[in-house]
Amino acid sequence: MASTSTPAQPDPIDALLSAHGLRRTGAARLVLGWFLSHPDTSYTHAQLQAALQSAESAHGVGEGGVTLDRVTLYRLIDRLTQVGLLLCRVDAKRVRRYQAMPESVKAMPHFECQSCHRDSPLTGALQGNAMDLEAAAQNALQALQALGYQGLSLDLAVRGVCADCAGAAAVPKAVAP
Ligand SMILES: [Zn+2]
Repeated sequence: MASTSTPAQPDPIDALLSAHGLRRTGAARLVLGWFLSHPDTSYTHAQLQAALQSAESAHGVGEGGVTLDRVTLYRLIDRLTQVGLLLCRVDAKRVRRYQAMPESVKAMPHFECQSCHRDSPLTGALQGNAMDLEAAAQNALQALQALGYQGLSLDLAVRGVCADCAGAAAVPKAVAP
């Protein structure tokens, strides 16, 4: 993906930061930019820090020599999660993983693979049944709203091992000669 840094166009990352009331610091740009360019991957704190460090040294991503210490990084991730730009999940090993907020989370039922940690919409796999799930979820939200609950959001997720990972694990081993 080429970076189109034409001066006429506002930077989409800057726009997102502003729209969510965050300061457009070099560190914030770096972290959010990283998540947005890896939308299918979720990272632990340590994985993200390692990824950013290698990206910085390889490409000079941190323009102006942005150095991200651990505390700054953790704070940034917290802020980005609070404003809904990142999704935080606790995986099967009880480790927090962060990911750019996937579109799939907002409405459709989606699937979280516990092996590759990919997040994918389930509409294709479930065909018409996905619409039933979504309708049920919306009904539940409306019922709660009618009772006075506010600021509701819903994360309709199915967890398990995706077909790709299950297939990879089930590949029959070559019979030893
Ligand atoms: Zn998987």
